[in-house]
Amino acid sequence: SLSGTLSLARTNAFFMGGGKSLVNAYYRTAEKLGVTAFYEANVIHLELDGDAVRHIDYTHEGEAKRLAPKAVIVASGGFQADIDWLTRAWGPAAQNFLIRGTPYNRGVVLADLLEQDVQSVGDPTQCHAVAIDGRAPKYDGGIVTRLDCVPFSIVVNKDAERFYDEGEDVWPKRYAIWGRLVANQPDQVGYVIIDAKSLNLFMPSVFPPIKADTLEELADKMGLPAEKLRNTVESFNAACGDTSDFHPTELDGVATSGLTPPKTNWARPITEPPFYGYSLRTGVTFTYLGLKVDESAQCSTANGPIRNLWAAGETMAGSILGQGYLAGFGMAIGTVFGRIAGREAANYAN
Ligand SMILES: Cc1cc2nc3c(=O)[nH]c(=O)nc-3n(C[C@H](O)[C@H](O)[C@H](O)COP(=O)(O)OP(=O)(O)OC[C@H]3O[C@@H](n4cnc5c(N)ncnc54)[C@H](O)[C@@H]3O)c2cc1C
Repeated sequence: SLSGTLSLARTNAFFMGGGKSLVNAYYRTAEKLGVTAFYEANVIHLELDGDAVRHIDYTHEGEAKRLAPKAVIVASGGFQADIDWLTRAWGPAAQNFLIRGTPYNRGVVLADLLEQDVQSVGDPTQCHAVAIDGRAPKYDGGIVTRLDCVPFSIVVNKDAERFYDEGEDVWPKRYAIWGRLVANQPDQVGYVIIDAKSLNLFMPSVFPPIKADTLEELADKMGLPAEKLRNTVESFNAACGDTSDFHPTELDGVATSGLTPPKTNWARPITEPPFYGYSLRTGVTFTYLGLKVDESAQCSTANGPIRNLWAAGETMAGSILGQGYLAGFGMAIGTVFGRIAGREAANYAN
């Protein structure tokens, strides 16, 4: 637990078996209720006619299919896995983003509905993005690629220059801004530098850090300009003051002085070998531009509500939050609006 935040036991639900087990529980429950699921079915088009969805076009087992639904709930995620769509919003920087979750949330249904003038909300550049291990795979690296070492480090860009206060606040309150900070650096990459005394202060990483006995060797291994890195570390070290109040789990006020940008907490000189480094990349969790829903999760056009169309989860994220992040938001909007949409759609279909 960290001062200023609730303890993990109160904020996090750790599911035995992880997300897969959670999703399996939903499918088993649905099956018991008589629901049929088509696995690996790819929805291509929802045909909107006036105030209702008339047809759904999809492919299943290699065949094009069509059905006429009574009620439809869209829960097919954001568009984060469509790098071209991200690029249209962000520019070429998006090509270097990593996508933390499924490669299938490409916004196909979302785009299809937006083309038919279903009301949308949110800005295409807004998303939840965190800084993750630069060695994570392009898609689906999952939670384990998150790095929690930033507060005890300095973070430099590829020119070995610092660019933001690494000690601004405790990590749970700041981790979600680092995806954007790294996205704004050259080549969308950052490098975390720590020394031996900080290695055990954060959650162990899934990939071991790059390790070296000197800063020059570390710079070489990480592809950073060695002399510049040494200068940056020396300037940082020289700006550190008394560190006797260092306290890793609360804002300790152990700050640099006369340094730009400052490090306002946990500023200890980086002097004790071995030195360690991690590369950081922007890891997009999910996008916010989505379907605009009302309090009953119903979608609409400018002419009014669409009688048989509801949305839940990431695909309507912008209806709840336009920017920033609220812890638990991703799971909450699926669960809460999924339930509301399910109830409304069932009432309508019955
Ligand atoms: C690494 C990571 C960590 C996270 N940590 C947290 C956290 O701590 N707290 C939190 O609240 N949230 C967290 N989230 C976010 C949260 O997990 C997701 O936002 C949430 O699970 C999304 O639920 P959903 O039902 O909207 O979409 P999903 O669960 O992604 O489901 C969408 C489904 O639609 C399918 N699909 C997409 N397009 C089509 C199509 N055209 N036809 C058919 N199927 C389609 C996809 O294959 C997918 O199965 C995290 C996400 C990631 C990736």
